[in-house]
Amino acid sequence: MERKISHYEEIVGVEMIEEIRATAQPLNGLSLLNINSTAVGGGVAEMLHTLIPLFNDIGIGTRWEVIKGTPLFFNVTKKIHNALQGENLQLSEEMQAEYQSVNRKNAARIDLSADVVVIHDPQPLPLIDHRRTGGPWVWRCHIDLSNPNADVWEKLKPYVLRYDAVVVSSESFKKADLPVKTYVIPPAIDPFSPINRPLTADEINAKLAEYKIPQDKPLIVQVSRFDKWKDPLGVIEVFSRVRKEADARLVMLGNMASDDPEGPTIYENVRKAAAGIPDVHLITETDPLLVNALQRSAAVVLQISLKEGFGLTVSEALWKGTPVIATNVGGIPLQIEDGKMGYLVTPRDYESMSARVLDILGDPDLRAKLGEAGREHVRKKFLMPRLIYDWLNLIGKIVA
Ligand code: UDP
Repeated sequence: MERKISHYEEIVGVEMIEEIRATAQPLNGLSLLNINSTAVGGGVAEMLHTLIPLFNDIGIGTRWEVIKGTPLFFNVTKKIHNALQGENLQLSEEMQAEYQSVNRKNAARIDLSADVVVIHDPQPLPLIDHRRTGGPWVWRCHIDLSNPNADVWEKLKPYVLRYDAVVVSSESFKKADLPVKTYVIPPAIDPFSPINRPLTADEINAKLAEYKIPQDKPLIVQVSRFDKWKDPLGVIEVFSRVRKEADARLVMLGNMASDDPEGPTIYENVRKAAAGIPDVHLITETDPLLVNALQRSAAVVLQISLKEGFGLTVSEALWKGTPVIATNVGGIPLQIEDGKMGYLVTPRDYESMSARVLDILGDPDLRAKLGEAGREHVRKKFLMPRLIYDWLNLIGKIVA
């Protein structure tokens, strides 16, 4: 289905869509270029798939380019990602050379001319060295910048300083030492995408049957790339504790993003930790309808990240009326008020996590109440039209 902004009227109301059109009107004819590092896997690609057609529909000619890199490059950029989320790293000369060289090659391949250029995350950050046009360049950093490794941040800062604006997902990621104007725009989900569109009971049953997931026991689900920041081993730990008190089934679904080389190793560690525990399903397929079916049929969804830029999976589950137990890190507390649409817990506090899971498993009314509040919260704050509106306002400011 080609996305049109008018489709969203039925969900967010006619007024909001009129407001979007009015805000877009003075920007009509502007060109916008988005660049990131993967077309599939992860939240950035998920959002761009919807944002691009919607911007085009409202009169802003928008392109999306994906940089190409070597395995060494993606190794280096994943390390940079980890360091920006607090891990130790010495960025060697050789690593920096690869970082720059891959970006130089991409700059030669990609047409960088546009009225506004938005660069997503650290992988294509050095493209700013190859800027030819005067139009504003925005660095849209999606990762949890609350406590970056100081050394790596200092090495990246010279690039960031050359941007006209920075956009982060939460106030807590703003950097006091950065003189570049920084805006907060939380991400959003698309209620019409395959991950989020309504599903019939037959579709859900067929999808779960396809993956041989019986519905005989309540499902506990975490949907996340196999990434240490998502604490997948912690999910196994929580499930082991829950199983002592209640019968349940665990499904962990994590596809592999082409810009995340750590996935297969982490998956292998999870597989070993889960060996011998009954009723655990580990799935690595890319299947948006399976994400959708699991988030709908779960008794409870977990998102127990150690760091989290935003965590689209939280809003996705809440939108489906499923309560979420998640850690109080990064962008997650924007989406969950403790006790209202799920529960906020401290990272690695497996005792509290399993106690909360048991609370929800034992009380269907509580599940329904939390789920209802979650859906309404997402409807108001975390759907695509709000994201488009925020971006239009920002673009209006920086091109003025
Ligand atoms: N996702 C998916 N299949 C998977 C795992 C994740 O389609 O097996 C989707 C998920 O539903 C969400 C996105 O990938 O839309 C992940 O975004 P999030 O912000 O939660 O985390 P990120 O991967 O960007 O750190």
